[in-house]
Amino acid sequence: MAAAVARMPNPSGYQEVTALEEELAAAFGTRRAVAVSSGTAAITTALAACGIGAGDEVLLPAVTVVMTVAAVVAAGARPVFVEAGADGRGLDLADLTAKTGPGTKAVIAVHLAGRTDGIHDVAAYTRTTGLRLIEDACQAQGTTTRGRPAGTVGDTGCFSLKDGKIIACGEGGYLLTDDDALGDRAAAYRTHWQSPAPDAPAGSRLGVNYRLAEPLAALARHNLQRFPEALAHRRRQAAALHRAVDGTAGLEPIAAGDGDIPNGYSALWRLTLPAPRAFAAHLAGLGVPNSVGTHRLTAAHLHPACSGYATGDLPRAHATVDTLLAVPFTEHDTERAIEQWALTIRQEAAAWKS
Ligand SMILES: *Cc1c(COP(=O)(O)O)cnc(C)c1O
Repeated sequence: MAAAVARMPNPSGYQEVTALEEELAAAFGTRRAVAVSSGTAAITTALAACGIGAGDEVLLPAVTVVMTVAAVVAAGARPVFVEAGADGRGLDLADLTAKTGPGTKAVIAVHLAGRTDGIHDVAAYTRTTGLRLIEDACQAQGTTTRGRPAGTVGDTGCFSLKDGKIIACGEGGYLLTDDDALGDRAAAYRTHWQSPAPDAPAGSRLGVNYRLAEPLAALARHNLQRFPEALAHRRRQAAALHRAVDGTAGLEPIAAGDGDIPNGYSALWRLTLPAPRAFAAHLAGLGVPNSVGTHRLTAAHLHPACSGYATGDLPRAHATVDTLLAVPFTEHDTERAIEQWALTIRQEAAAWKS
């Protein structure tokens, strides 16, 4: 007689979190998932679980959001910004190599707009150099690359459950990994090291409170059930906006990288219009949300909050961000709203003199 699979009683009482972690690991095909309180917390936890902290350097793209930088600083490590790859895609391997020094411990690849460009080359580099590879996959839930989910290529992938991400519960996050020791250390760190990890018994180290609250975990479980529909919806939204806008002079659609099936987090163009940042801001003012115009995305080495970490000039990263038009979707954006955005983008691009 087949025995029913009994779930280990959870002495901490975190039944929803434990169930969510099992369901996330099953959904993404990883050995482990560790739920935390935000995407930023997931990245800091990943670094701590890799043993990275004070005195260590972490390489990350200059083309990223401030949250990735803040997570590295919160872990006590020093962020080192890396130039964008050819055509602004991914990381420039020559610059990555040049900036790898004795203090370098990890590379964070950031899958902005759901694109994982160049991740397999970066993974080959970290394998040969012995660096850890952490994926900031907060915008890439559901993207696949060469058949693998984004966030499962490196040592660990970090995700956000903030509203607006594809699976969401208000606020939250999680890490995925196939490395049990890394998973144990992440689980211990996020709750004051109250659980054991290899070579570090419970109570032997300080951690933090990055716990995901039970009611949020219950909501995340509910929304995880609808993940396939939510993903298909985003992809339809992105395809609809591209259909209605592509061919407009001054906007070049950015195609998916080789082997990638993006999640439709954002529609994506390279602007060839004059004063592209002003154009993005102008569109935001007319109700078309976009990362530069609405959220003031700036290459990290030029961001005022990160300037203390800037070293040198990264012209390709600068140009990549400044010419980006990334229009993100939420599940509530209707076909009519998207048609209106398309009309606005086409009209304003045609009229734009700068
Ligand atoms: C949303 C996001 C984060 C941070 O997630 P929070 O849950 O807001 O902390 C980090 N990196 C990227 C690329 C994001 O899009």
